[in-house]
Amino acid sequence: MTQIGHFAGCELWPETPTFTASKQLEEAMKVEFETIVIGAGQAGLAVGHQLALLGQSFVILDANARVGDSWRGRWDSLRVFTPAKFNGLPGMRFPAPRLSFPTKDEVADYMAAYAARFELPVRNNVRVDGVSRAGNRFVVTTSAEALMADNIVIATGATHTPRVPEFARGLDTSIVQMHSSAYKHPEQLREGAVLVVGAGNSGAEISFDLATRHHVLLSGTPAGQLPVPHGPAMAALVLPLVKFLGMHVLTMDTPVGRSVLPKMKGTPLIRMKLNDLKAAGVERVARVTGVREGLPMLADGSTLEVANVIWCTGFRTDFDWVHLPAAFTPAGKPIQYRGVVASEPGLYFVGLEHMYAAVSEVLPGVGRDANYIARHIAIRPRLSRVDSEDRVVRRDPAELAVR
Ligand SMILES: Cc1cc2nc3c(=O)[nH]c(=O)nc-3n(C[C@H](O)[C@H](O)[C@H](O)COP(=O)(O)OP(=O)(O)OC[C@H]3O[C@@H](n4cnc5c(N)ncnc54)[C@H](O)[C@@H]3O)c2cc1C
Repeated sequence: MTQIGHFAGCELWPETPTFTASKQLEEAMKVEFETIVIGAGQAGLAVGHQLALLGQSFVILDANARVGDSWRGRWDSLRVFTPAKFNGLPGMRFPAPRLSFPTKDEVADYMAAYAARFELPVRNNVRVDGVSRAGNRFVVTTSAEALMADNIVIATGATHTPRVPEFARGLDTSIVQMHSSAYKHPEQLREGAVLVVGAGNSGAEISFDLATRHHVLLSGTPAGQLPVPHGPAMAALVLPLVKFLGMHVLTMDTPVGRSVLPKMKGTPLIRMKLNDLKAAGVERVARVTGVREGLPMLADGSTLEVANVIWCTGFRTDFDWVHLPAAFTPAGKPIQYRGVVASEPGLYFVGLEHMYAAVSEVLPGVGRDANYIARHIAIRPRLSRVDSEDRVVRRDPAELAVR
């Protein structure tokens, strides 16, 4: 995990000591699982639920203190774009009016309730810092101990490593700067103008959040905008069509999906459109291309005297800690089909952007991918002697059926 030292709130986890190679193996041999799921966000929980239905033994490890924390940690005013009727994970509907758009804390609470209802074996405060091969199995080293497993499911999210341009380090230290993942509310900022860099949905929503208190300058060009207002009518009439396209048309199994998905960059503006931002007083500026004399510089060479900069510049995936080179392209992208890594039998990914379909990363799509992966795991031969107290009791699928 690369730490972005001076960016507020971007120190995701403290450094922890790791085991030496031989010690790792010795320790790992003592605690075995059939499957270790890394990450207890919606993707990891959905895989866990499906594994339990199939009578599999597994554990879910997560670096955060509580299930739902990846949602809780987002900015205070965040509401999801997806209506409650599409936000349920397998086996449990989202407890809100079907056409409503829940808050990020309601989504977080739903995740916690989901894990509790299905008694999913989540171990929090456990950060995985290495995955490597040991014969037919895998060794997982964590902040607490080393473990052995037949199967590994990497469900660490597509949004955990903030992407910020290198030149950000050159900004004057009097300017408060942070990545969108560290932004919570306007009180974090200094008096004065705010430059929001990146005109995707995060940039648009954060600009709107700040516009009543600050002069906001928004840099960049959105990847289009949905042509209808966001709200219950859109949830009833338009989003079902968008979901259908994302689930069934834009997939890696259709010619159009294979052509479009790898090139898809960014999402059109969904709730806050350019007209809403203009009405709120947000000023559009050109692309930020560098820093001059400590100030952000635009493409035309001009500089902006702002007191704050928020980088809504997205995320990158970082799998340096997965020591299985055959599983990745030279650029570090997992080589997989529907989350299954053919070159490393037993290794799976879930929740990656456009992993199988346009909706793979979001609530409406993750359940289907989780189901596919769990079924794949269930037909693999079992190697581990799962006899420790951590063994998950095999469940009767009927017991876990939708209530
Ligand atoms: C601002 C924003 C708004 C969004 N809005 C919507 C929306 O409206 N609707 C929608 O459907 N989707 C939305 N998404 C997209 C997506 O649903 C979320 O990003 C969601 O949190 C992804 O779930 P996940 O389980 O894949 O990853 P995460 O929720 O990020 O969970 C990953 C988990 O893995 C853990 N982890 C990571 N690395 C390690 C490690 N090395 N060891 C142990 N644990 C680890 C983390 O602690 C975390 O709990 C939004 C995303 C963002 C950023």
